[in-house]
Amino acid sequence: MTALLSARGLTRRYRMPRAGLFAPVRETIALDDADVDVRAGSTLGVIGESGSGKSTLVRLLLGLDTPTAGSVTFDGRAVDAAASARSLHWLRRETGIVFQDPYASLDPRMRVDRIVGEPLWALDVDVDRRARVREVLDDVGLPSDAGERYPHEFSGGQRQRIALARALVHRPRLLVGDEPLSALDVTVRAQVLELIRELRVRDGLTLVMVSHDIGVVQNLCDEVVVMKDGRIVEEGPTEKVLLQPQVAYTRRLLASIPVIDPPR
Ligand code: ADP
Ligand code: MG
Repeated sequence: MTALLSARGLTRRYRMPRAGLFAPVRETIALDDADVDVRAGSTLGVIGESGSGKSTLVRLLLGLDTPTAGSVTFDGRAVDAAASARSLHWLRRETGIVFQDPYASLDPRMRVDRIVGEPLWALDVDVDRRARVREVLDDVGLPSDAGERYPHEFSGGQRQRIALARALVHRPRLLVGDEPLSALDVTVRAQVLELIRELRVRDGLTLVMVSHDIGVVQNLCDEVVVMKDGRIVEEGPTEKVLLQPQVAYTRRLLASIPVIDPPR
């Protein structure tokens, strides 16, 4: 099995402010010795309670943060987050990310077509950029005049569609969602989930999806990792982890989250 995305011994510690001048330096271990493999075309779900290290993991996987120890490779190539931003352009071309907050993640002063097209300019992608922006806005189900409008004119669900369009405009091979559906209400969440499913299948995307929502993971993901206190405590095929969790933490986690029956 060759993984598109691979991490070995991935570790991130943060120094915390001292309690006082003579107090000892304290550290938080946000991520502790994580190994992750994501096969091309597969979908990996990442679950775990708040503060368990999910966002830290995805930031490191995308070279948005530098590990204290360990390494990441994408398609066999080393991801060196400490290098200059420009030297990671190749990775930006291959990846897209959608964050949780549809209100904070879009610049309110920019027209939607500029927001969505920005990666094409930033990464110097050789396409008809205007046409590509129109195409991807259509792909995510936004009206044809969406590009000429501003983020505040859209609902939360539509904003996540804009964020998704921006993440996909340069045709990445890997899409990462850090709880992209969590801020949406249930109906809208189901619609955006369905959209991600469709685009994933159509474009053969590889997907890493951080989610609180077991329904989302069940619906979308082939494999799951369960995180607790910065460690991966359980991993495996989604059905197996959700139906026969091996660790008590996973059982508690599953019990604490209302399971909605996902459309199959
Ligand atoms: P999750 O996404 O699962 O909620 P995070 O990856 O955001 O968890 O955080 C994991 C741990 O690392 C938490 O204890 C958090 O407080 C800590 N942490 C995350 N980012 C920072 C930071 N920039 N500085 C200090 N601690 C951080
Ligand atoms: Mg997080």
